[in-house]
This record gives sequence, C-alpha cells and structure tokens, in this order.
Amino acid sequence: MNENIKGKVVVITGASSGLGEATAQLLAEQGASLVLAARRAERIEKIAEGITAIGGKALAVPTDVSAKEQVENLVKAAVDKFGKIDVLLNNAGLMPLSPIESLKTDEWDQMIDVNIKGVLYGMAAVLPHMKQQKSGQIINVSSVAGHKVFPRSTVYSATKSAVRVISEGFRQEVTPYNIRTTIISPGAVKTELLEHISDQDIQKNNQEYVGKIGLSPDAFARLISFSISQPEEMDINEILFRPTAQE
Ligand code: NDP
Repeated sequence: MNENIKGKVVVITGASSGLGEATAQLLAEQGASLVLAARRAERIEKIAEGITAIGGKALAVPTDVSAKEQVENLVKAAVDKFGKIDVLLNNAGLMPLSPIESLKTDEWDQMIDVNIKGVLYGMAAVLPHMKQQKSGQIINVSSVAGHKVFPRSTVYSATKSAVRVISEGFRQEVTPYNIRTTIISPGAVKTELLEHISDQDIQKNNQEYVGKIGLSPDAFARLISFSISQPEEMDINEILFRPTAQE
C-alpha cells in the first residue's frame, strides 16, 4: 500500500498491454481503484479479474480512444462506478514507423487519431469532473521521440511532440482548478509497440535494438506511481527517462 495512492481512482487508456498494464498492476497493489480502457475487451477484463482476485478494485471498459463518444462513455462509467476520477493516464498509442516517402497515409491518420485526438478527448471528458472536484491529475504519455525526430519517426514524433505542447498549455490553463498535469516521455521499453510497424525491415531493426537494451514496463509504472504519490501541492511536470544504454 502507498498512503498517497490508496483510494485514488485511476483511469488508464491502453491498459491491455505494455506500459498501461504494468501500471495498472502496480497501482492496484498500492491500493488504487483502476478503470481499464482499450479496444481488446477480453484482455482488460482478464486484467481486471486478476486485480479483483487479489482484493483490488478494477473495472474494464472497452474503449476506442479515437471515438469521442466512447471516451465520454469511459469517463461516465468510471464516475458511475467509483464516484470520482483522481487520475487519467492517457497512455494509448501507436508507433507504425515508416519514412514519409512510403506514403503510408492511413498509418499517419491512425497516429493522429489515437496519439493526439485520443489524448484530447480524454482530457475533454475528465476536465468537467476535475474542475468540480477541484482536484485531479492528467498524465499524458509522450516519448523520447517527442523531444527529437529520427529518420522514419517524423509523423510519430510530430504526434508525441504535440502531446507535450498540449500538456504544457493545458497545465498553465488549469492551475486555478488545482489540477496537476504530467508529461512522461519514455525511451525504449519492451512492449508490443513495435508489432504494429508494417515495414518489416524497420520492425526487425527496432526489435533487435529494443530487445537488447529495452527496459521492463515496470520502470514506467514506478515513475507513474512516484508522480501520483507526491503531495497534492506538488506537480511533477515532466519525466524523461531512457535505458542507460540508449543514445
Ligand atoms: P503497447 O502496444 O504494448 O500498448 C499500446 C496500448 O494502446 C494497448 O493497450 C492498445 O490496446 C492501446 N491502443 C492502441 N490503439 C488504441 C485505441 N484506438 N483505443 C484504445 N486503446 C488503444 O505499447 P506500449 O505499452 O509501449 O505503449 C504505451 C504508450 O507508450 C504509447 O503511447 C507509446 O507511444 C508510448 N511509448 C512507448 C515506448 C516504448 O518503448 N514502449 C517509448 C515511448 C513512448 P488495444 O490494442 O487493446 O486497443
């Protein structure tokens, strides 16, 4: 248990695997009530059952974050079940890397819809509740790729850079409501993220690299727990972390 996390209601998007799943497990062990969102319903339901089986509280709400009304429904389901939302972790994301000249415009659309619009929809849906509560925390997941652009990461980097800009503007606007805003920018972590890269060579190269140096998702979960557990008057604005071996 963690006294500053115990009893908090945390909504996590992209909770069906990787960073979101690891964070749900850790926060549940620390006493938070979890609301798990992702498209793969059976996965989040299984994770919620696992949390409940160890005495925790969890609700699975199948959600596509690129559909505004589904995100609104997610927030409504969380408030109906637990009466409040203390934290929204906007974590759902996609990274189908490719060079611009491959013109994979459908993948650009997907990244913009999930990585940018999905984050905005989440913020829009929880803001009225957090304003009313006069408390809350929104944690948006950017990336090292949101700090610098690499060949083949142009559109992904643009979306993750947008997440940082949106978060910082939002942070300044919501200070009167006692809402904390946190940006977290991970380096290489071993998850399913690379599986959606459609260019086989790029996927293979990235898998070799991340397989060698990537951190475990627990590293991310620990940092989320750290930022949530700070006293209410302190806002961890931004966290940037990498494996020590990452350039
Ligand atoms: P995973 O692929 O393991 O997880 C991605 C999650 O996003 C899944 O739970 C997936 O669930 C969910 N998701 C994707 N599209 C949607 C959608 N339309 N609606 C709802 N959920 C969706 O990768 P990670 O855990 O690594 O990724 C989590 C976040 O971390 C992403 O934003 C990613 O960009 C970021 N990140 C990851 C890094 C890494 O090295 N792993 C580095 C930097 C940033 P489902 O398919 O069930 O919908």
